[in-house]
Amino acid sequence: MLKIKSFTFNPYQENTYIIFDDSKEAIIIDPGNYDPHENESISKYIDENRLSLTKIILTHCHIDHCLGNKYLNEKYDAELLIPFDEKDMYKNVQNISQLFGFHKYLHLNESKYLKEKDKIEFGNIELDVLFLPGHSPGHLAFHCKNENVCFSGDVLFLNSIGRTDLPGGDHDTLIHSIKNKLFLLNEDTIIYSGHGPKTILKNEMNNNPFLI
Ligand SMILES: [Zn+2]
Repeated sequence: MLKIKSFTFNPYQENTYIIFDDSKEAIIIDPGNYDPHENESISKYIDENRLSLTKIILTHCHIDHCLGNKYLNEKYDAELLIPFDEKDMYKNVQNISQLFGFHKYLHLNESKYLKEKDKIEFGNIELDVLFLPGHSPGHLAFHCKNENVCFSGDVLFLNSIGRTDLPGGDHDTLIHSIKNKLFLLNEDTIIYSGHGPKTILKNEMNNNPFLI
C-alpha cells in the first residue's frame, strides 16, 4: 500500500512528496525544501517514521523543484535521478539559483537519468516513467498503476495547466502531452501536482478550462 506525504515548500509553494510502503523504503519527488525550518520538517517526518530514503527523483529541473537535493543527499545518502533531456538545464540550476535569490543553494550532481518507459522500484512499489514535455523540455511524470496515482509535476493542475513561457516551454507540446498521453491513464487516477491541491484525472478531462 502506497503512502504519500506531501509538503508545500519555498516561496513558489512547491509540492514535495515522500512516498513509501510498509517496507519503509522511501523516495522523494521534487524536494523543494530550502529554509532551515523546511529541512527540519522533512527530516522530522523521515526520522519519526523510520524511513530509509534511497532516491530523489525530479519531474523536471526548475529551481523550485530541486532546492533540497543536497540537504537530503548529505543527510540520507539518497541518490539523485533526473530527466535525461534536462541534463543541461540541471547543470544551469546553480546559475539560476543566484538569479532567483536562492543564495544558499548547493548543487548536487546527479547519479542517474530517467527516460520514458523506465521503471522506478522501491519497497514493493513500481512507478512507470512518462515523458510529458511542454512546461519544460524533458518533463517526466511518475505513474503508479497499481494504486491509480500519478505525480505529474507542473504539467497539470486542478483546473489549470503548467506555464509555458519559461525556456524550453511550448504550449502546443504541453496540450499534446496531456491529451495524448496523460489522458490515456485510467480516468480515476489521482493526480498529485507540483503546485496546488491534488485532483482526479476525470475532473480535468471534463472541467479544466484549458483542455475542454
Ligand atoms: Zn516548473
